[in-house]
Amino acid sequence: MSAQGRIVVVGSLNADLTIYTERLPNPGETLQGEGFIVNPGGKSANQAVAAGRLGGDVSLIGAVGRDSNGDMLLASAAAAGVDVSRVRRADNVETGVAVVTVDAHGENSIVISAGANGTVVPADIAAAKDVFDGAAAVCLCLEIALESVEAAARAGNDAGATVLLNLSPFAPVPEGLAEAADVLLVNAHEASQFLGGADIPGPEAEAGEWETVRLKFAEHRLDRAVVTLGAHGSVVLDSLAEDGRRVTRIAPTKVDAVDTTGAGDAFTGALAARLAAGEALAEAAAFASVAAALATTRKGTQAAYPSLVDVQARLA
Ligand code: ADP
Repeated sequence: MSAQGRIVVVGSLNADLTIYTERLPNPGETLQGEGFIVNPGGKSANQAVAAGRLGGDVSLIGAVGRDSNGDMLLASAAAAGVDVSRVRRADNVETGVAVVTVDAHGENSIVISAGANGTVVPADIAAAKDVFDGAAAVCLCLEIALESVEAAARAGNDAGATVLLNLSPFAPVPEGLAEAADVLLVNAHEASQFLGGADIPGPEAEAGEWETVRLKFAEHRLDRAVVTLGAHGSVVLDSLAEDGRRVTRIAPTKVDAVDTTGAGDAFTGALAARLAAGEALAEAAAFASVAAALATTRKGTQAAYPSLVDVQARLA
């Protein structure tokens, strides 16, 4: 692997407040839960930790409140080697929270309160220009205001970094933002939504069916996209592939999954880490696929993310 370039992750940090129940409550109903845990989460914090644990040189830009959840989030990211000096402590607003209910089948329902994440503005991006300078990859998701995501994408473009845009949680994005992204990361559902309800090929689909999807993304000036397919692996659609392989199907890594929460973030963080190390997209996605699969074999999100040694052991 070549030298690691810096990865800048811009976006959300949330405390995940999770209660386990037999089933999800109906409207107006009160249920007894079977346990309660507070974990560090938020898509961007997760992506930063995933990349950091894999040896990435990562800076996280965002905001938390001056509360114990904020302390927990900063400590978890710092423990993964992430530079948290650009995570602003916002006054008079609480750290973002996700209230999660998980039923006996692993089905969940989630309500998010953005809290301090809602205070991230383009000025935060401008204030971190020195962090963007020389960055190799910039990782973005949609858990902060779109105008801040756009500012970060532009800063990434200006720095000559590879801009990864994870369209999650799904929201329509301006064409300019899609164009500013070098690599789009979506699950099958988000891919369909982005392409106006288009059919997304099933797990057994031939490369030709994915070729149609690649062309649809290209119509939106998106030359490179990775579609994740949960337990079925992923597909890399790369109109710019140097070896001419425009569709690469990444087979799933077989694991006994116990908790798939945050698998997509593990994939994104791992992909960013390998792209920042100079790997080609399909190669980086194959590595990310192993890292994300390993993340599902342990309970929790950030605490379940594998180290570089874990992934290399699985690849050996
Ligand atoms: P999201 O969580 O964003 O919906 P996915 O469910 O598609 O994302 O999962 C992201 C990636 O994590 C997949 O492409 C795959 O590499 C890995 N993954 C998820 N679930 C499993 C599983 N059960 N077995 C193996 N790999 C998995």
